[in-house]
Amino acid sequence: MEFEAVIGLEVHAQLKTESKIFCSCSTRFGAEPNENTCPICLGMPGVLPVLNKKAVEYALKACLATHCEIEPTNRFDRKNYFYPDLPKGYQISQFALPIGRHGRITLQGNGTPKVIGITRIHMEEDAGKSIHGDNLGNPGKSYVDFNRTGVPLVEIVSEPEIRSAEEAREYLITLKSVLEYTEVSDCNMEEGSFRCDANVSIRPVGQKEFGTRAEVKNINSFKFVQKAIEYEIERQTQIIRQGDQVVQETRLYDANRGVTFSMRSKEEAHDYRYFPEPDLVPIVIDEAWIQQARSELPELPEEKRERFVSEYGIPPYDAGVLTADKALSQYYEQCIAVFNQPKAVSNWIMSELLRELKNDDKEITDCPVSPEHLGQLLKMVDDGTISGKIAKTVFEEMFRTGKSPDAVVKEKNLVQISDTGAIQALIDEVIADNPEQAEQYRSGKDKVIGFLVGQVMKKSQGKANPGLVNKLFQEKLRG
Ligand code: ADP
Ligand code: MG
Ligand code: ZN
Repeated sequence: MEFEAVIGLEVHAQLKTESKIFCSCSTRFGAEPNENTCPICLGMPGVLPVLNKKAVEYALKACLATHCEIEPTNRFDRKNYFYPDLPKGYQISQFALPIGRHGRITLQGNGTPKVIGITRIHMEEDAGKSIHGDNLGNPGKSYVDFNRTGVPLVEIVSEPEIRSAEEAREYLITLKSVLEYTEVSDCNMEEGSFRCDANVSIRPVGQKEFGTRAEVKNINSFKFVQKAIEYEIERQTQIIRQGDQVVQETRLYDANRGVTFSMRSKEEAHDYRYFPEPDLVPIVIDEAWIQQARSELPELPEEKRERFVSEYGIPPYDAGVLTADKALSQYYEQCIAVFNQPKAVSNWIMSELLRELKNDDKEITDCPVSPEHLGQLLKMVDDGTISGKIAKTVFEEMFRTGKSPDAVVKEKNLVQISDTGAIQALIDEVIADNPEQAEQYRSGKDKVIGFLVGQVMKKSQGKANPGLVNKLFQEKLRG
């Protein structure tokens, strides 16, 4: 029997407000443990939350950017549970009336777009962080850091419409890109600003009903999400093939061993005893506020991709790669401003630049080569100052040193030789050294020209203008 996977993702993204959602404590990452706390986020008796309007604005924009319908009167609820990192004994979240519903994210796939529905987006406060064992050699001790408590989050819940680990990964990359473009979250995965729970079940192909799902909690890298899902699909398939049943439960992913393992049985919504948060009034979002937020939305990745295709005439594939990351799309446009050959620039970025970045494990934002310098380099190839081959060497040097192409070319004496006399001299040498091949070419064997030109290029250390070398050989031996 063949099985297919059914996957729904819940993403928690930190909204990039300066202060927490219900108090004025800083949200800054990397502070000393418990530095960013006050009686409100520590959940002292009698304190009252005050809603941070900026958090609502950001959540609203996240909803609009993902095409959600806005709940005109949404509200907060209490989600009750006990855990040491949750000092109040409840989390303020949205349950019955989330700020947004019925949105969507469009995956480009390999040319066949697929829409994944977004069930809901709601706002909530983050919990604190438990730390087990310390670096002083006390493995038995546990600590809790409340700096994260009360940091504003949106939870974005997808419909169970994802069908593979690869698709889950694409969904996350696309969603992250939308949130980054919208500038509501920095989506820094290492700092936990973008985390994912993956719900996975399998069913026989052709069956309508869903199978029982397992939920894998808090995965913070694209690679691990994909691996955890692949592992779950395999695990559940084996269980069902053996005639057993998948247990509905919450699991964790162990990146070191590449496996998921059971954490606890799955709680149901009624376990949380949700009820409306009595200390906060409902949030009314009128049409004017929606219009305002909409007007402030920047160009989104999908729109930018379409514009790159129509405005620059580059293939949709290129446009997709270049717009997936906002900073990369900006880099591209700055480069075009200097050297206006969009496809040449795109080729260069997609091959050389992205490769160097990947090798050095760098983001485009810390690229040592500025877009202006890359534009200048391509100009130098275009006007024949250097050859395309030498340009690659120059580029590597620019990447290593951050120098301008001009400086590198001068320093290393790499200017292309287009002086006919100088090339003639090299050609004569090559003919003298390789009389046989020269004769073959003279008598009509076209293929040897590659060899002959290659010899000249070698002698000139790659600096001879290959087009000119070709032409002069022809004139010399066949003219
Ligand atoms: P909870 O908050 O308890 O995890 P939700 O109803 O919010 O529950 O659903 C969580 C996620 O689980 C959603 O993304 C949904 O698409 C997904 N989901 C629901 N049922 C299944 C299933 N049978 N298989 C896989 N994913 C599922
Ligand atoms: Mg869940
Ligand atoms: Zn506080």
